[in-house]
Amino acid sequence: MLNLVIFGPPGAGKGTQSAKLIEKYHLVHLSTGDIFRANIKGGTELGLLAKSYMDKGLLVPDEVTINILESEANKHQHPKGFIFDGFPRTVAQAKALDAMLEKKGSSITSMISLEVPELDELVKRIMIRGKESGRSDDSDANIIQKRITEYFDKTSPVKEYYNAQGKGFMTNGILTIDEVFENLCNFIDGIKVS
Ligand code: AMP
Repeated sequence: MLNLVIFGPPGAGKGTQSAKLIEKYHLVHLSTGDIFRANIKGGTELGLLAKSYMDKGLLVPDEVTINILESEANKHQHPKGFIFDGFPRTVAQAKALDAMLEKKGSSITSMISLEVPELDELVKRIMIRGKESGRSDDSDANIIQKRITEYFDKTSPVKEYYNAQGKGFMTNGILTIDEVFENLCNFIDGIKVS
């Protein structure tokens, strides 16, 4: 299996690149943000709970997030692989993901990090996305700021977790969408998958 974690701060382009990658490599796209938004739209109990955190720019608790991710992953019988987008966002989630994949006799192949060091660029991209999508957590400057703080406090250590295992690949996320995609494809095409 080819199992990729697509990593980066809010606004780095994870969703955009994931959509292009699943089309080319026929992988299953698992985005916890999308799962939560679908639950909010469907008015489920999980959606209500997730919304109470998302509206504040906070991470949804690990246990809830890990459980929903695992149940979504288990819906797919024999996938060629997964792209995990917006998950894991904490080291506890990364460890749970390893355990989940181990049960499937598999593991994370690589973590692809979209590097966007300029905070102003991230905020600008998120605001534009908010206008286009109507996403409330993309439209409020305070929520955006909180999400970025959560990223640096809780999520950035996840990068070290994978780097320590020699699984990290950093790529420049401020190139054009097509340039970033080409760099990702060159990297993925060079990976030997067991
Ligand atoms: P995203 O669409 O990935 O930007 O996620 C939107 C929001 O959903 C985040 O700001 C969090 O509140 C929540 N969320 C998404 N994925 C996770 C995760 N792996 N762990 C905790 N909260 C998450």
